[in-house]
Amino acid sequence: MKTEVIIVAAGSGKRLNAKVPKAFVLIKGRPLLVYCLKVFNEHPDIDGIVLVAVKDHLKAFQRLASSFKKVRAVLAGGIMRSDSVKCGLKALLPDTDIVLVHDAARPLVDKAMIDRLLGSLKKNKAAIAGVPVKCTVKKIDRKTLDIQETPARDLLWEAQTPQGFHKEILIKAHEKKYKEEATDDAMLVERMGGKVRMVMGDYRNIKVTTPEDIILAKQLLS
Ligand code: C5P
Repeated sequence: MKTEVIIVAAGSGKRLNAKVPKAFVLIKGRPLLVYCLKVFNEHPDIDGIVLVAVKDHLKAFQRLASSFKKVRAVLAGGIMRSDSVKCGLKALLPDTDIVLVHDAARPLVDKAMIDRLLGSLKKNKAAIAGVPVKCTVKKIDRKTLDIQETPARDLLWEAQTPQGFHKEILIKAHEKKYKEEATDDAMLVERMGGKVRMVMGDYRNIKVTTPEDIILAKQLLS
């Protein structure tokens, strides 16, 4: 069984108000991207890493990735996250069976989480890391902000990455075109009627998105 991971790092970091691409924002003196690269590079079941980078900074990404042996390809991403994943899919090896997709913005991914995901993929074609929501979540009307619905909290989990798929399913899911952007890969599999299993992620596995997340990540990255 060959397993590769696509790390999507082509985000601009607009919501972070950063002057550099988000992947290069320093946390405890090291670029954000380095943390997850290290975890996947050291995981014994990961055979290769495909890194999807910001087009205008490709050289800098290549330089940073060069210290991680398992990085096989560094290529330019697209406008939306799903475009970037699609770029990564093109670089997978023909004999890869399992594909994980991970957001570079989640530096706190760890071996145990990857193990749980890979374990689930032995029985399921698609599985993702996630955690039960702690807060009550409301669905609102986009224009008026009036609350439309309060889904039962015990049925709601927050999706994280890594997300894992048998390769052919993920490729098929990305072939279909939809008007609405898919904010994760599981969503594309769900849209085509595929079953996706939830696996316990970790509350520490935050996505660095807005400035306060940097403070939190600094504390959590001990
Ligand atoms: O924008 P969002 O928070 O959904 O980004 C999640 C991950 O997707 C980040 O690691 C970001 O670098 C990546 N991304 C990407 N290409 C884009 C947008 C986001 O690789 N066009």
